[in-house]
Amino acid sequence: MKGRQYRQGGSAMHQGSCLCGAVRFTVEGDLPGPDACHCSQCRKSSGHYFASCDVPKAALKVEGEDKIGWFQSSEKVRRGFCSVCGSSLFWDPVFRDWIGVAMGAFDGATDTQLAKHIFVADKGDYYEITDGLPQDLYPPS
Ligand SMILES: [Zn+2]
Ligand SMILES: [Zn+2]
Repeated sequence: MKGRQYRQGGSAMHQGSCLCGAVRFTVEGDLPGPDACHCSQCRKSSGHYFASCDVPKAALKVEGEDKIGWFQSSEKVRRGFCSVCGSSLFWDPVFRDWIGVAMGAFDGATDTQLAKHIFVADKGDYYEITDGLPQDLYPPS
């Protein structure tokens, strides 16, 4: 299951923000290896493919929460973006206790490495995936 590889109790603190700075956040603990999702929804909402890491909701603190716009992209998932500058920030499976945070939103070193590609059955035809990382045709259930 996604989210399980998170190491609880790490002392690292990672900061992130949207392009305009209206939304800022911190994630407490080490970041797990992100996945890159190539599904058509992620490609449309991010502009390319969407790399994110899954962290416990309890580890995420957000400043400027009132500036986050939420788009319900499916019955169980909403996507959070800055309503001022439009940056993609969060992928929130609303009934779970973890949330996906966009890798591009982190400021500074993330101290992690992309772990795999998911939903590559849906990827665009204008690029190849050549980094040798595992590829799932569809996301893990
Ligand atoms: Zn913004
Ligand atoms: Zn996706």
